[in-house]
Amino acid sequence: MLETLSSFYEGLNPVGRTTVITTPILLLAVVVLLVLERKYPYRKGLPFFREGLFLDLFWYTLVQSYFLQILIFGFIIAPLAKHFGAQFHWVSSWPVAAQVGFFVVTHDFYIYWFHRFQHNSAFFWRTHEAHHSGKQVDWLAGSRSHIVEIIINQTIEFAPIILLGANPIVVPIKALIDAVWGMYIHANVDVHSGKLQYVINGPEMHLWHHADHEEVYFANFSTKLAVWDWLFGTAYLPEGRKPIRWGLPYAFPKDYFLQHAFSVVRFDEGALAEKSALFRHYHGVRFRVLSWLGRHVPAAKALQGWEVPDGAPETVARRPDDNPAAAAPVTPAESSRPVNALS
Ligand SMILES: [Zn+2]
Ligand SMILES: [Zn+2]
Repeated sequence: MLETLSSFYEGLNPVGRTTVITTPILLLAVVVLLVLERKYPYRKGLPFFREGLFLDLFWYTLVQSYFLQILIFGFIIAPLAKHFGAQFHWVSSWPVAAQVGFFVVTHDFYIYWFHRFQHNSAFFWRTHEAHHSGKQVDWLAGSRSHIVEIIINQTIEFAPIILLGANPIVVPIKALIDAVWGMYIHANVDVHSGKLQYVINGPEMHLWHHADHEEVYFANFSTKLAVWDWLFGTAYLPEGRKPIRWGLPYAFPKDYFLQHAFSVVRFDEGALAEKSALFRHYHGVRFRVLSWLGRHVPAAKALQGWEVPDGAPETVARRPDDNPAAAAPVTPAESSRPVNALS
């Protein structure tokens, strides 16, 4: 058995060998974050089977990531590398750790500005609103990112690693750092990192970024390094206060394909279902599957919808341009499972 494993490992190329090491680390990080979320919750009462968990896990994390990896590496970066060849060896002589550090910092600086731009452009907001659509933010919520957003950001992230002559193992190492840090900043963990929060970004500031509170619509754009927010005047971290409402101030589709369609053309799911039998049928598939699941696995009922905590203030849809009107508030009567949003 051990011999088979070792010959399997020996047969891999350096990238494959690195992936054999990074994958268990990623899974371990998931377990650690899940334990921390249960032990030290930022928002008490957030269930594991929260609304949109299946969407984030199946569609965004597995299906979309799989196909976009093939598209980005196979059809964008590979042709670029073929065209430019090995012309640049800017970082080739550096130690791997220095290469990783260099690409982590430079990409994080880029992503701060692109993210800030997305919040200020009506067009690019459409490629980012899906990321903000979750009402219940946890370790997996960050995976919800529009196809276009991922294609742009990951091409700009990984193409330079290949084109500037970095060691190819920097790709899986960087991907691991992205995944773990991405899960960490969205995790429902009550972190108090003190002065470290000026440098290292975490849930303290990023959970505010996802809040549906007007004061943070244009704040906390950092991903890995919070220093960008503090340097460029967009940091928001009030003492002793937490958000009580997350997500978008307007209705947003819950289905993967409809979420992408909504970025192209605005529609009202209810009105469309009334008009089109085909849409009604497609729209009903999700409901029928979840109802069936809810009857057989009671915990899965949470996947069907979410509740807005009583007393959460309504906000005005002050996001970039032409967005639908604010969603009607959920009345306490409609809310069957109260969520304790305040901790
Ligand atoms: Zn954002
Ligand atoms: Zn986020």
